[in-house]
Amino acid sequence: MNWVVGLIKDFFPCGEMLRFRCNVCGRPARAPLSKITREQPTCRCGSSVRLRALVHVLSLGLFGVSRALPDFDRRPDIVGVDMSGAATYAGRLAEKIGYTNTFLHKSPHLDITAPDPTWLGKCDFVISSDVLEHVAPPVSPAFRNMMLLLKPGGVLVFTVPYAKTGNTVEHFPALHDFHLETHDRERILVNVTAQGERQEFDHLVFHGGEGETLEMRVFSETAVLKELQQAGFEDIRIHKEPCLEFGIFWPQDWSLPISARRPKD
Ligand SMILES: [Zn+2]
Repeated sequence: MNWVVGLIKDFFPCGEMLRFRCNVCGRPARAPLSKITREQPTCRCGSSVRLRALVHVLSLGLFGVSRALPDFDRRPDIVGVDMSGAATYAGRLAEKIGYTNTFLHKSPHLDITAPDPTWLGKCDFVISSDVLEHVAPPVSPAFRNMMLLLKPGGVLVFTVPYAKTGNTVEHFPALHDFHLETHDRERILVNVTAQGERQEFDHLVFHGGEGETLEMRVFSETAVLKELQQAGFEDIRIHKEPCLEFGIFWPQDWSLPISARRPKD
């Protein structure tokens, strides 16, 4: 922990407990500082720092201020898509703005590697949280497609797990014709490369279950920023700032939320 914790202790004399208003459900919440991590649910609604940060960054991007989701004006004219967004906030967002949660394997369907052309240029916002580490390589077209979904001036609200230093580590760079098998209760990835070479990979990493959540890569911060720039985004910001009022702070300097915009013209 660091200066942020010192700041919190100054603001909250109850010691190691942070009291905040959850900006997803709008209710008061409290949690030990040690539990307020990127993924741990720290409100009765199930919100974690990552989910509260998505609402925070989206609100900043759309309205210029950070509002709790229940305080959003009702604006169905503001339209956008999410990719397998968390149910914790998805229904609540859809009540306020023109939000469509999309999925790879069910309706409404969106494959970010090949989005339906009817989506292109239609979105005021795109949310993609912890999805692009699961997209089969090469990943650059997915970044480009997120940009193409947006209207000029539209905002991307983006997270992936990333390392602070180094380069992106692609686990399966020659992925082509692949499937998963189970050998002695261990999941194996079997791939045949474009050149016809058969490959097998074990020690696979799955996020939040198995199947479609296979980790394809571990990004680095430099690589993420470069992908966004090469895709054509501008105004790329890493949101390290805490928002203690809404229970958002980041003791670490990696895997932070990022916003970026499609240029106006
Ligand atoms: Zn909540």
